[in-house]
Amino acid sequence: MATHNRHKVRELQRILAPLGIEVSTAELPEVEETGATFEENAELKARSACRATGLPSVADDSGIVVDALGGAPGVYSARYAGPDATDEERNRKLLEELRGVPDEKRTARFVSAVCCAFPDGEAITVTGVCEGRVAYLPSGSGGFGYDPIFLVGKKTYAELTPSEKDAVSHRGKALRLLAARLQERAKQN
Ligand code: IMP
Repeated sequence: MATHNRHKVRELQRILAPLGIEVSTAELPEVEETGATFEENAELKARSACRATGLPSVADDSGIVVDALGGAPGVYSARYAGPDATDEERNRKLLEELRGVPDEKRTARFVSAVCCAFPDGEAITVTGVCEGRVAYLPSGSGGFGYDPIFLVGKKTYAELTPSEKDAVSHRGKALRLLAARLQERAKQN
């Protein structure tokens, strides 16, 4: 798994372990995320990790897409409040940008593109989406990143248990699709 984000690794392990897939991470070269889409960035990261390790490598590129902000922060979600900002600062900035925006216009979605790159040059890329809304205030203590301000129904991602989040989340959906594609590939080989 090509990431420095321990939360993403944990989610990946949680979702893939029951399928018999063992996930590990390594010190990998930094990759500049120059893609215009989540899918392009996931593929850049996965291919780079695969070149560095010689092993099948998985990368996730994800972010929150807010309708009232024309799709921002989108692929820039990690850098939304500057390169050294904290999760709290990013959440504060997003809430500030949406100040005065009513319920029905606070629609947003989390997107996760996951790519698995293989040493033979093949790559499988899948995308998972979770529709929701941006809350008015942070709530809940689970998860990471924008979890405390992303509402799915009445609860934020941060108010869900890990397995509840996996069942509905963008990453959970993407990884289940990936697992199905990996099983198909294993049958063909
Ligand atoms: P990436 O590491 O370049 O994919 O950046 C993803 C950005 O979106 C980071 O700011 C993450 O904190 C945020 N993000 C991605 N997935 C989630 C999630 O499941 N919950 C909350 N924030 C997330």
